[in-house]
Amino acid sequence: SRPLGADQISYFNEQWDKLEKNRRSLLQDLRRAIDNGDLQVHYQPQLHLERQRISGCEVLVRWHCPERGTVPPDEFIPLAEEHRLIAPLTKQVILKSCTELGEVDLLGSTLDRVSVNISAQEFTDRDFLPQMQALLGDLSSLRPYLQLEITERAALLDMKRSIHYIRSLREQGLRFSIDDFGTGYSGLSMLRDLPVDELKIDRSFIVDLNSQPRSAAIVSAVVGLADVFGLSVVAEGVETDGQLEALRRCRCEEVQGYLIAPPLDIQRFQAFLTGHSLQ
Ligand code: C2E
Ligand code: CA
Ligand code: CA
Ligand code: CA
Repeated sequence: SRPLGADQISYFNEQWDKLEKNRRSLLQDLRRAIDNGDLQVHYQPQLHLERQRISGCEVLVRWHCPERGTVPPDEFIPLAEEHRLIAPLTKQVILKSCTELGEVDLLGSTLDRVSVNISAQEFTDRDFLPQMQALLGDLSSLRPYLQLEITERAALLDMKRSIHYIRSLREQGLRFSIDDFGTGYSGLSMLRDLPVDELKIDRSFIVDLNSQPRSAAIVSAVVGLADVFGLSVVAEGVETDGQLEALRRCRCEEVQGYLIAPPLDIQRFQAFLTGHSLQ
C-alpha cells in the first residue's frame, strides 16, 4: 500500500478533531441533563404467560436533548460510565420511576416487579453498595418491587465482591436478574455461586427461535435451568407471534418485547396496563 499523502493525513486529522469535539460537547450536554434532572424513563411491560397478565416492567432511561433530539442509551451510557456519571444517572432513573409509579398507584396492585439496569462499570465500583444502600432508605414505596439487572460479565469480574453485594442488597429486599443471559462466558458456575432471582434470555436467542433449532434448544435449556434453580425466566426482544408460541411451548414464564409493547412513558404505560388488566 502507498504511504498516506499530506492531504489525506490532514483530512484524517480534521475528522478526528470533529469526532473529539462532538464527544466533548455530548459529554457536557449529558452532564447538564443529569444535573438538571432532565433524563426521562420509559417502562416496558413484561407479560406473565400462565397468569395472562403484566407482572413487571423494565425501566429504560431516555434522553431527549433539545439540541440533538433523542440520543439512544447505547450512545450515552458508555460515556456516562467513562466519566463517573453513571451513579448519578442510575439514582435519577430509580428516583424518577419511584415518583412516577407512585403517582399512578401501580405498585403492588398491578405490578409485582420493577427492573432497573445496572451497568458493569457501576456494579464493580466499590462505592456501589453504600450508594445503593443510602438510596434505598428514601424508597420505601418502590423498594419491595425493585429488581436490579446486572450482566454475567459484570458479576464475573469479581465474583467474591458480586456475591457480597447481591447478598447484602437481597437482605434489604432487592431482587437480582441476570441480563443478556447466555451471552457471557461461564453461565453455569455463575448459576451455582450467585444468589440471583431471575434470568433474562438474551434477544439474540429469540431472534432466530423459529428458524434455528439450536437457539430453540438453548432457550429450552435455560428455562429448564431456571426451573431447577427456582428462578424466574424472562425472554427479551419478543417480536412475533411465532416466537411467542415457541416460548409458550418451552414453558418460558415471562416475555418482553415489541409484540407486547415497546417501552412506554408513564401515561402510556398506565393506559396500557388499565386496558390490559383482567379485572
Ligand atoms: P437492555 O438492558 O438489553 O435493554 C433492552 C433493549 O432492547 C432496550 O433498548 C429496549 O428498548 C430494546 N427492546 C425491547 N423490546 C425489543 C424488541 O422486541 N426488539 C428489539 N429489537 N429491541 C427491543 P434501549 O432502551 O435502547 O437500551 C439499550 C441498552 O442501554 C439496554 O439494553 C441497557 O444495556 C442500556 N440501558 C438502557 N437504560 C438504561 C439505564 O437506565 N441504566 C443503564 N445502566 N443502562 C441502560
Ligand atoms: Ca436490561
Ligand atoms: Ca437485555
Ligand atoms: Ca441485550
